[in-house]
Amino acid sequence: MTVPTITLNDGNTIPQLGFGVFKVEPPETERIVSEALEAGYRHVDTAAAYGNEEGVGRALATSGIPRDELFVTTKLWNSEHGTQSAIDAMDASLERLGLESVNLYLIHWPRPDMDRYVETWRALEQLKTDGKAASIGVSNFHVNHLDRLSDETDTVPAVNQIELHPAFSQTALRTYARGKGIAIESWGPLGQGKYDLFGREAIAMAAEAHGVTPAQVVLRWHLQNGLIVIPKSSSAQRMAENIDVFGFDLTDVEMTAIDGLDEGRRVGADPDTATF
Ligand code: NDP
Repeated sequence: MTVPTITLNDGNTIPQLGFGVFKVEPPETERIVSEALEAGYRHVDTAAAYGNEEGVGRALATSGIPRDELFVTTKLWNSEHGTQSAIDAMDASLERLGLESVNLYLIHWPRPDMDRYVETWRALEQLKTDGKAASIGVSNFHVNHLDRLSDETDTVPAVNQIELHPAFSQTALRTYARGKGIAIESWGPLGQGKYDLFGREAIAMAAEAHGVTPAQVVLRWHLQNGLIVIPKSSSAQRMAENIDVFGFDLTDVEMTAIDGLDEGRRVGADPDTATF
């Protein structure tokens, strides 16, 4: 299975489809990530807050896959905003992952109420200079947060990882990001299973037309929109299904019909008001 790559604004490349491990229980993580690697995933998306970096690291180490064929993302948690705490948080994540560097380090949430994300971003710039993160980016940043980084710092984030799925397609933020050269990664790409995305007519009809599952249609919609997508599954069968999305193309009519499902409906927290 060859997953295409996207070139980021710093020249590094990222596999367009990866494996997310939010809510993968720590004792299960090594086994589940090992199964994902066996299924062909080479891009793993974790976070300090998920509590499962050790399991991810063990799975990577025992896989025998060369480090340069793997793409690893982790994220700085909200309690670690600030200069020294960000540097310490990166070191702690690298220790848990058993890696010398990650491919991508993200600020998990802006937490505008704390007003420290600009300072934290400068620390990530230093971590990139130090070689601990090949690329740096943000997550859950709105346009106004990105504008502040642009006004007050020298580095444009390589990535903004945001909630994005057909019911919450974030067209304004995507247009802004395209203009700035920021790649968008879709979290909750399947809507986290929180409502019946797969039963929507536009998705179900495309699935039937192509002889694929509704989940595969949704992932294909992300890919054909140029988005990076990181579905999570604890099931080996669904892991295989979710990476088997390079053998068909949705038509323009099908893409437009799925675009029409946007309800501006978040399943997760609003970054402007989140206080966890
Ligand atoms: P997803 O949209 O990937 O949905 C995961 C859910 O869908 C699980 O319940 C899974 O169940 C189910 N599922 C997976 N594949 C299929 C399938 N083929 N058919 C039917 N159901 C399926 O949600 P996530 O929240 O996990 O998002 C993906 C990743 O994004 C996370 O794992 C994490 O890495 C990242 N993320 C980042 C956030 C951020 O703030 N930056 C926030 C949330 C997520 P099962 O496991 O049983 O297959």
